Amino acid sequence: QVTDPVAKEGPSSPSYDWFQTDALVTIVIYTKQKDINLDSVIADHRDDSFRAETVIKDYSYLIHIALSHEIQEDFSVRVVENVGKIEIVLKKKENTSWKCLGHPLENHNSLIPKKDTGLYYRKCQLISKEDVTHDTKLFCLMLPPSTHLQVPAGLHVYFKLTITGTEIVKPYTPVSDSLFSEFKEPVLPNNKYIYFLIKISSAGGFTLELDHLQIGDYVSVSNPEGNFKISQFRELEDLFLLAAGTGFTPMVKVLSYALTNIPSLRKVKLMFFNKTEDDIIWRSQLEKLAFKDKRFDLEFVLSAPTSEWNDKRGNISPALLSEFLERSLDTKLICICGPMPFTEQGMKLLHDLNFSKDEIHSFTA
Ligand code: FAD
Ligand code: NAD
Repeated sequence: QVTDPVAKEGPSSPSYDWFQTDALVTIVIYTKQKDINLDSVIADHRDDSFRAETVIKDYSYLIHIALSHEIQEDFSVRVVENVGKIEIVLKKKENTSWKCLGHPLENHNSLIPKKDTGLYYRKCQLISKEDVTHDTKLFCLMLPPSTHLQVPAGLHVYFKLTITGTEIVKPYTPVSDSLFSEFKEPVLPNNKYIYFLIKISSAGGFTLELDHLQIGDYVSVSNPEGNFKISQFRELEDLFLLAAGTGFTPMVKVLSYALTNIPSLRKVKLMFFNKTEDDIIWRSQLEKLAFKDKRFDLEFVLSAPTSEWNDKRGNISPALLSEFLERSLDTKLICICGPMPFTEQGMKLLHDLNFSKDEIHSFTA
């Protein structure tokens, strides 16, 4: 048997199989991994080709086929978590028997380092755009029915737009539609909608183009990227979040995930740095959450406040950090995100305060 030299270094190589009924074709992927869930699979059906990327640690296993027959636009994905089995159920357009699934396309049936897979995009439709602050808006995008994609907490995607003939790509971090969406019935059906908090820059550039999109227009959205791992939450007791401006965006899902899914969690503290009160994203939601959930504490710090601001002011500093990060033997994680100089300064201060690398996660591109 020929073994893939890359697969030798990574996780043991997955395999796949397929079977059919009159109306359906099921592709089964055997990942041979335990920690597989619906976030692990990103699948797209485009024209006659089908592509499914299964993320396994730092690798991607690809199914990439030109299908032998036509299928309907939508399909479903199921995961049997305890055995790491993924089932993708395609609906035939015609009830004929398929002799083969199709023919292989680039990288079909191979396990390759994730960094080598390249960004794969699909067009998403702008559904709504709402003001959140004077310059930040909540965008809702809808995935096509021919895509299965869920963005895990802490990861971002890339947007691609063609602006005056040139393709421009920028990263954005999905959020939920509100801080309370984990606890209420979704207004729109799950999984097909992705929300983003985006600060529109008046100086032009990409965000102004995004703001000019009309409801119903399209933007290309990539597969999730980033190095945050949910396993960093394992046995976590204290979670500290340091966010500046739109650096708040990765904290939204991280915060909701931690409060709903980590039984060991005792405390979550957010220190949110902004220039002025008007710049604070979701201030009243954050205050409501802090009131409702006693594990969650909140502090705002303003770098350019009005004279009426009686709370914390300034930039990230040793004094602010050592007061915020109470010393304890609890298992902790400190997440930091904001403008590059903010994140770099914060990382340096955390190292000076003797927090270890394992206790800190910085969100960068
Ligand atoms: P750019 O043109 O890149 O300008 C950046 C800044 O410079 C702006 O503030 C602009 O006002 C200023 N500027 C530009 N040109 C001039 C000029 N000529 N003179 C003076 N000032 C100027 N942003 C979000 O809003 N939400 C997110 O969820 C989000 N997630 C991100 C995730 C990652 C991993 C990273 C790395 C970044 C993320 N960002 C996010 C930032 C985002 O990718 C863009 O950098 C941001 O939207 C600015 O893009 P832009 O093209 O509009 O501005
Ligand atoms: P902003 O200019 O409104 O600043 C917010 C706060 O950041 C300020 O009040 C100040 O406390 C601090 N700050 C700003 N500049 C600083 C500096 N030079 N030194 C120290 N502290 C400083 O912020 P914004 O316009 O909302 O920008 C947010 C930034 O976060 C962008 O650069 C964006 O790329 C980045 N971001 C990164 C990710 C990621 O995952 N890597 C996600 C979202 C946003």
